[in-house]
Amino acid sequence: MDQPGNRLPKNVEGKYYTTDDCNGCAYCASVAPDNFDFDKPSNSYYVSKQPGDPNEEELVDEALSDCPIDAIQIEGNKVLSTEEE
Ligand code: SF4
Repeated sequence: MDQPGNRLPKNVEGKYYTTDDCNGCAYCASVAPDNFDFDKPSNSYYVSKQPGDPNEEELVDEALSDCPIDAIQIEGNKVLSTEEE
């Protein structure tokens, strides 16, 4: 996926967030249950708590890299562009 989706409004403020690309597969919550929660109306998962220590951060990073549709993003991360100098 070359263009990340839009940040879901339920995500708590902070670095990590999920986007409206999320399909509710629940993988992230199985990896980092303290940091992701389910929002039933939108059938999607959101960051309910930003990681509070290096261990949690590692789990959230793992969820991010393994999310099947790249629906977990990091604030400020730019989409890679070949035009960048
Ligand atoms: S792993 Fe990705 S697609 Fe699956 S619930 Fe989490 S954010 Fe959504």
